[in-house]
Amino acid sequence: MKLIFLGPPGAGKGTLAVRAVELLKIPHISTGAIFRSAIAAKSPLGLKVKAIIDGGRLVDDDTTIALVKERLAQGDAQKGYILDGFPRTIAQAEALAGFSPQGSAPDRVINFDIPDSAVLERLSGRRVCRNCGTNYHITFNKPAQEAVCDTCGGEVYTRDDDREEAVAKRLEVYREQTAPLIDYYRAKGLLIDVDARPSVDEVVANFKKALGI
Ligand code: AMP
Repeated sequence: MKLIFLGPPGAGKGTLAVRAVELLKIPHISTGAIFRSAIAAKSPLGLKVKAIIDGGRLVDDDTTIALVKERLAQGDAQKGYILDGFPRTIAQAEALAGFSPQGSAPDRVINFDIPDSAVLERLSGRRVCRNCGTNYHITFNKPAQEAVCDTCGGEVYTRDDDREEAVAKRLEVYREQTAPLIDYYRAKGLLIDVDARPSVDEVVANFKKALGI
């Protein structure tokens, strides 16, 4: 199954993706996570995108499309995937539909529906493991030991782009450039709306029901 997770930052796409991977046995491909690894490794890609990402803006379409094209060509993605954070523009969606081998148009697009006020509350408390990317929240989902990842023991930190100024920019960018994808995929009959406000378990249950799994 080829799935796209669409929604504003902080909607819970990454959290649901971890659960969906267990259910569907397909890879979770997060462009944000790929960029963050490149930044941590100080690779040429990382050096190119760091300031853009820290400022809450989008990396250019050509760079992002090339990255996803390469990733989807790998063996594990042939039986399906969860794309989390891609596409974020209409140009990216159109490029995705033309990727080989058999065209990578998604089977379903999950639209995470959530008001801005809930997004702001989640992002201001969000923490992430620097090593494995597991998400935490200082109020709703703390690691057992402060700043230490339960999964791998890595350092749990605040993403630079979860700081207040960057969050405002990311929401603006989402509304202007990414939200038009909701109508784009709805018109193709692919969109499934999921209320992203309840607990993770409830969101997982609604997701399973919507997909009939
Ligand atoms: P995320 O982890 O999905 O919130 O992504 C973090 C940041 O990475 C975004 O705010 C963008 O700066 C960049 N990014 C991730 N995915 C894309 C994309 N599809 N197109 C452009 N920039 C992206």
